[in-house]
Amino acid sequence: MANKSSYIELKMPPRKRIALVAHDNKKQDLIEWALWNRGVLAAHEVYATGTTGRIMEAELGIKVHRVHSGPLGGDQQIGAKIAEGQIDFLVFFWDPIAPMPHDPDVKSLLRMAVVWNIPVACNRASADFMVNSLQMKSEYVRRVPDYGEHTDVDPLRSWIDKESPTV
Ligand code: PGA
Repeated sequence: MANKSSYIELKMPPRKRIALVAHDNKKQDLIEWALWNRGVLAAHEVYATGTTGRIMEAELGIKVHRVHSGPLGGDQQIGAKIAEGQIDFLVFFWDPIAPMPHDPDVKSLLRMAVVWNIPVACNRASADFMVNSLQMKSEYVRRVPDYGEHTDVDPLRSWIDKESPTV
């Protein structure tokens, strides 16, 4: 479907839109990571699935844009935001041990992150490396394969240009 060498370029602003999602057995891990990195998170814009977001707001004392709880469609909402260019960065501590009723949604969210080439961290070590990257503070141009007639990218690009927050 994608032409091998053809890409579209989408700008990530210096102030990133970061989505946080953690399954129940991983929420403590995310809380500890987020408290450790509170200063970084506070400098960006934070989105989260319902329960994760409620905990993050209480623990960090920062504004979090919340969608539904994961099993009620929250993972799909975050995935849709990625597809619409509204999320730049995903921290998703999914549970590798316990089976999830919304496993298809989990897979779909991870798939959207790869399709749209946004950074995605699924454990604390990856998340630590990512938030300490130089690209966190500057504009970053991500390249997404040009899916040809399947990608109507012009509305997406103008939406991103219009809505991207600046520092
Ligand atoms: P929650 O959803 O933040 O509402 O717990 C996370 C998930 O299960 O995907």
